[in-house]
Amino acid sequence: MIKKIWSLLAPFHRTFLVFVFIAVLYETVQLGNSYVISLVVTLFGSGIAPLIWILLILGLLVFDEINMRLDNAFDWHIIAKQSHPIFRHLKLSAVSKFLKMNMAWHHKHNSGTLVGKVGDGVWKTLEIVDVMSWEFVPTVVQTVISLIPLFFISPWVALIAIVTFVLFAWLTIKGNAEKEPFRAKRQDFYEEEWNKSIASVQSVETNLMFGQQDRLLEDQAKIHDGIIGEALKEHRLGVFKYNRWRIRILTVARRIILAIWILQLTQGTLTIAALIFVSVLVERLFSSFWRFARLLDRAAQNSEGAKRLADLLGEEEPLETGTVREISGQPLGISLQDVCFAYDGDYTEEDGALHDFSLEVEPGQIVALVGPSGAGKTTIRKIVTRLARCQKGLIQVGGVDINDWDGHQLLEQFSYVPQGDDVYIFDETIRYNIAFPCPEATDEEVERAAKLAGILDFVLNLKDGFHTQVGERGVRLSGGQKQRVALARAILADRPILILDEATSAVDAITENEIQTSMRTILTGKTAIVIAHRLSTVWGLANKIVVMDNGKKVEEGTHQQLVLQNGLYAKMVSLQT
Ligand code: ADP
Repeated sequence: MIKKIWSLLAPFHRTFLVFVFIAVLYETVQLGNSYVISLVVTLFGSGIAPLIWILLILGLLVFDEINMRLDNAFDWHIIAKQSHPIFRHLKLSAVSKFLKMNMAWHHKHNSGTLVGKVGDGVWKTLEIVDVMSWEFVPTVVQTVISLIPLFFISPWVALIAIVTFVLFAWLTIKGNAEKEPFRAKRQDFYEEEWNKSIASVQSVETNLMFGQQDRLLEDQAKIHDGIIGEALKEHRLGVFKYNRWRIRILTVARRIILAIWILQLTQGTLTIAALIFVSVLVERLFSSFWRFARLLDRAAQNSEGAKRLADLLGEEEPLETGTVREISGQPLGISLQDVCFAYDGDYTEEDGALHDFSLEVEPGQIVALVGPSGAGKTTIRKIVTRLARCQKGLIQVGGVDINDWDGHQLLEQFSYVPQGDDVYIFDETIRYNIAFPCPEATDEEVERAAKLAGILDFVLNLKDGFHTQVGERGVRLSGGQKQRVALARAILADRPILILDEATSAVDAITENEIQTSMRTILTGKTAIVIAHRLSTVWGLANKIVVMDNGKKVEEGTHQQLVLQNGLYAKMVSLQT
């Protein structure tokens, strides 16, 4: 666990060493403070001249100034070199991890839990770093430095202090190890709670419409009861078992030390001045034991969240093996040969979403994919772009195996409009959303794309035009408007291959007709795969129609050929007309 958190902070290892150096310097100077009263008693006993007293006060003033400056250096190092830069480093590492992981990984993780895990993990790691920096390291340094003079003045007391410290540390570490399962369970509850909290905010309309708010609240209450239950088990162990033993050890050590001092005083091996000094040192030592134990407890309490963040950031990123960055000759064709694909694990006939699927899309051709829902049409988009990797078969783009393409460059060849629900609209302006793939686009280019996508008139009629804010996930836009923003985005991206996945399914008939008219212009010079339920949108447009069912290709041809075949396509046409 410590190793994991330490590796999480790899770029800061040197900074920590510098910090320990400053802490040692600072605590050494601090030790001088404990010696002041003892020094005054010694000097008073030797009856020194008034000038020496004046020099002593002046010397102490200089000492205080140095002390204050070291204190400033200590604070500044933690704030400027550790706390803020570590926060930045961890947050950026998490976002970078999210952006680098593939779709399969994202599908496996709940987004609320992921965001919660990062937020919580970052704060808990910072809390550990803060505890260590502000308190733990100074306490350890202080303990070691206080022990040195104690060894010279009262070696037995120093020995007892060390034994006490070892027992104290052992109890603290053992206690925290025993509490770990409760902490892990508590963290599981937290993750569930983040997931449910985000779901209750996102599903607000469904909850209101179906009147399920009380049930959701009850679910949350159960999670919180679980959190409290685990926390109480953990604290019961701490308070009634380990704290009692820690107090016992400390009080017994105090009494033994007192007995040793009485013995030393009666034997004359300890002066009153030395007693004052060592008693201050021992009190400092014992209070630092307590501080040490409490700080370890606090660090351990935060360790579960930090460890989970470390696990998340340590997850292996998909390895990029492809090297092809561009190929000459445009537009690019797409070829799938005997492709088998399953979303989870290995491909099997039962779990597969695509079975021995082959498809040829010549450069510049428009191919329509049609078929019942769940047939595997959207899956084709995911595998040709390598967002999901097929287990069997060969997929080529521009005549090159997609595994040989550099992943980033492969995606640069595609532009797409996803199905209605998958259209992501940012909580920004309409312009930002359209120009998302190319933020440097001119106003004229954005307007042209909006016009081709059939949304220009709507935008120009808005009070703020292209600068209208659309709300979270585009709540201020209708389903059809969101689709048209996504279409404008895909047009503006201007990539060699365009995949339109039910791109106009939520658009009204008149607007759809307008978009159909622009389609020729949009697709000129491009290779396109058009997925559609409404067959009338593709039969005049596509060079070829591929009919899919249950992950297989069942028919292929032009509209006329397929109608004459009198198969699934003909049935779908007759149902729709
Ligand atoms: P279509 O686009 O033809 O409606 P899809 O390609 O979306 O169909 O889905 C094909 C099959 O794959 C369906 O049975 C669906 O349940 C399954 N599927 C789709 N996405 C996933 C996913 N992320 N994980 C597991 N199965 C999925």
